[in-house]
Amino acid sequence: MPRRHKLHTKFIFVTGGVLSSLGKGLAAAAIGTLLEARGLTVTLQKLDPYINVDPGTMNPFQHGEVYVTDDGAETDLDLGHYERFTSAKMSQKNNFTSGKIYYSVIMKERRGDYLGGTVQIIPHITDEIKASILQLAGNEIDIAIVEIGGTVGDIEGLPFLEAIRQMRADLGRENTLYIHLTYVPYIKTAGELKTKPTQHSVKELRAIGIQPDILLCRTERFLPPEVKRKIALFCNVEEDAVITAKDVDCIYEIPLIFHKEKLDEKIIDLLNIWTREPRLKEWEDLVWRLKNPKQEVTIAVVGKYVHLKDSYKSLHEALVHGGIPSRTKVNIRYLDSEEITTDSIPQMLEGVDGVLVPGGFGTRGIEGKIIAIRYAREHRIPFFGICLGMQLAVIEFARHVAGLEKANSTEFDPETPYPVIYLMREWFNYRTQKVEVRDEHTEKGGTMRLGAYPCRLVEGTLAHQAYQKDEIFERHRHRYEFNNEFRDVLTEKGLVISGISPDGELVEIVELRPEDHPWFLGCQFHPEFRSRPMEPHPLFVAFVEAALAHKQAREASSEETQEQAA
Ligand code: GLN
Repeated sequence: MPRRHKLHTKFIFVTGGVLSSLGKGLAAAAIGTLLEARGLTVTLQKLDPYINVDPGTMNPFQHGEVYVTDDGAETDLDLGHYERFTSAKMSQKNNFTSGKIYYSVIMKERRGDYLGGTVQIIPHITDEIKASILQLAGNEIDIAIVEIGGTVGDIEGLPFLEAIRQMRADLGRENTLYIHLTYVPYIKTAGELKTKPTQHSVKELRAIGIQPDILLCRTERFLPPEVKRKIALFCNVEEDAVITAKDVDCIYEIPLIFHKEKLDEKIIDLLNIWTREPRLKEWEDLVWRLKNPKQEVTIAVVGKYVHLKDSYKSLHEALVHGGIPSRTKVNIRYLDSEEITTDSIPQMLEGVDGVLVPGGFGTRGIEGKIIAIRYAREHRIPFFGICLGMQLAVIEFARHVAGLEKANSTEFDPETPYPVIYLMREWFNYRTQKVEVRDEHTEKGGTMRLGAYPCRLVEGTLAHQAYQKDEIFERHRHRYEFNNEFRDVLTEKGLVISGISPDGELVEIVELRPEDHPWFLGCQFHPEFRSRPMEPHPLFVAFVEAALAHKQAREASSEETQEQAA
């Protein structure tokens, strides 16, 4: 039967069953890795069933990190995995929520686009979803991998599932593929792998009209042939389409495990494409390096959301990447800034080789972070401040080195006598090429600077040494900025401004002079969003190296004291 399909791009839909947190995002990303390794061009998209229009205003406690793309989209953290596992570039069109879909349908309804017709979930919402998915297609994209957030059976997810169900009829069997991630628990007391939850979740999916083509079974151990056979029989899939998605210690091993299970072969077979064997040498080397470190360092991350590691996902990965060139295992100690006092800090930082203060919003825990920064500065412990961390480093320097008592950001103390960090009223928006005016009286305190901005580096600085470049592009997500009125007093006291916007107006990187500190740097942007396992971010590499040097010096001096005591 002839198909209506005229697109070059084929679509893989990834759904999840049984329970959340099975690693659907990583699975989708790893599929991308394998297809790229076969020479195909891929892109990825996340469809989130919640009503928030984007995750920008969501609480990191509930939602995890907000990932920022070059074009300034505030997105789901899975887009971070997509960019770390593939060379696909994420943008506004790679993340849609139900909220965003409904919003656009309602706007069309208000404009009269539906000519008075009754606007319904099917076909209007589902058509809008399909249009969002089809935006990914193009001659340059061979395969688009679309991940549906949530778990099959959730009420919220139904319109998305209905839309992708229709897409097989629209595009044809060889142009669409349904991959379902489920859970196969190992029950210790019975000594058995249990397939019932998988059977149920596939049944649920089939009730909606989707017969999965491939099942990824998240499990502790490789599924033996008889278990695969059973799942295949009960779930109506081919036996070689039942893939073990085994637990791993290192996420970068996932593509290798999938390949071992012949997932990529099955995918191209079902999509009827011919490719070469995948080239996975780079990934094998990467995993080997991560599993065979020569040394280790401990980095303290001082934050507010330390109980939920998902809130610092990209940061965590960037730190791991920073250790790859020197084969250093980076141990991360998360410290709750609200527990920090001048008395507790020496003990909390015991055995720590570097201190990192990440981005954040709101007043809570601010003073604790400043105490940690002061301790790192005075005790010459390598320090890396990101966004809020950079702003607090400036405040700490102003208060304790430049003698500007009660210096602060107007975010935390609007009445401060020394607003070293403030809401800059006018700033040049590089992407729109327009001057933006921030209005302090809007509800959220002005618009955010979002997405990639250029920054010039000053030669002879730590920043320039790390990047080995004169101009860089980095991603931003903040409202407050360094106040230029304080540039002179702070630089006179030894603060170095090593990165600045091309128009000279926005201070993007500050650091301390080599004679004052071995490695102390703060940046207004979020470098963690640009770090890749194959291309670790230069600032994270430099920070880990400084931490290594600090550790070696610390060990040498403790040996010396021991010798003296003996
Ligand atoms: N709260 C600060 C600001 O809005 C820092 C934001 C951040 O760290 N991402 O400028």
